[in-house]
Amino acid sequence: MLKRLVLSLIIAGLFIKPSYSQSLSKQRFNLTIYNIGVGALVGGAGGFLNKDPNERALKSILRGMGVGAAGGSLVAFGKSITYQITKSEALEFAWLARLTNAAGSSIIQNAYNNNKWWTKWNLNALGMHLEYDVPNNQFRGRVLFSSFITTLVLAKQAKLNVGRTLATGVFFYEKDGLPKGFGLIGSGIGVANSIAVDTNVEAGSRNEFYSLVAHEIVHTLQFDNLYWANPLFKRLDSNLKNKSRLYSNLGKYIHLDLNGALHYLIYEVQKSQPWGCRLYEREAEVFSNRIVPPCN
Ligand SMILES: [Zn+2]
Repeated sequence: MLKRLVLSLIIAGLFIKPSYSQSLSKQRFNLTIYNIGVGALVGGAGGFLNKDPNERALKSILRGMGVGAAGGSLVAFGKSITYQITKSEALEFAWLARLTNAAGSSIIQNAYNNNKWWTKWNLNALGMHLEYDVPNNQFRGRVLFSSFITTLVLAKQAKLNVGRTLATGVFFYEKDGLPKGFGLIGSGIGVANSIAVDTNVEAGSRNEFYSLVAHEIVHTLQFDNLYWANPLFKRLDSNLKNKSRLYSNLGKYIHLDLNGALHYLIYEVQKSQPWGCRLYEREAEVFSNRIVPPCN
C-alpha cells in the first residue's frame, strides 16, 4: 500500500508544471530546477522503496534525493547543449547533449535503485539500448522496443537519412510534407529514438532547419529521462521470465522499455493546452532555441 502511494507520488510529480514566465532567464531557471526536482523526487522515493533493511529510512531518502538531484542537473545541462545545434548549425552536438543527458538519467536510475551513483550507465542510440554494469564489468546492447515501433511508423512515410542518423545518434527521417504519427503532426516529430522532419523547412531556411532539429532532439532526451520507470516493473518482468521461455529469450535481444508508453501518456495529458503552454514543448523551445513560446 505504502509503496503504491510512493509510486503514485512520483508519477504525480512528473505532471507538476513549473510556473510560466515570459522572461527567458526565469524560464530557463524554472525548468532547470524542475529537472533537478524530478531527479530528487525519483531518487528520494527509490531510496525509500529500495532501502537496505538495516538502514534508517530518512538517511536513504536523503541520499537518494542528493544523488537524484545531481543527476537532474546533468539532465538539464544535456538539454541546454542542444542550443549549440541551433547556434553552430552542427548536428554533432546532438551526441554531446545525448551523452550528458543519458549520464544524468543513469545517475537518477542508480539513485532510484539505491545503488551507488556510478553503478550502471545507460544510453539509447541508433535504436539500441546500451547498458554498462560497472561492478560486474558487463556490457549489454539490445534493441530498444519503443524505437522499433517508431521506426515502423516513420519508415512508412519518410526516408531515412543515414549520414544525419550517424551525426545525431537517433534515426533521422526526412519527408516532403508534414510527418505524422502517435496523434502528432507538425514540421517535425521527435519520438523515442527517432526524429522526422519536413524537408521543406531546410529548403526555406537553413537556420530554421537546425533549430527544428535541436527542438526534436530535446524530445528524444525527454524520452530518455524516463529510464528510471523500468525498474518499477522489475518483479513483473522476472515473474514473466520464470513463466515464459519465449519472453525470457526475447528479453536477451529486446529491451521492453516503458519509456515510450510513459512519454506518450505524459504528452497526452499536456495536449489539451495550447502548444506553447505544454511543458514538453516549452522545455524544448527554451533549451534548444532559447525562446519562450507564447502561451495563450
Ligand atoms: Zn515539439
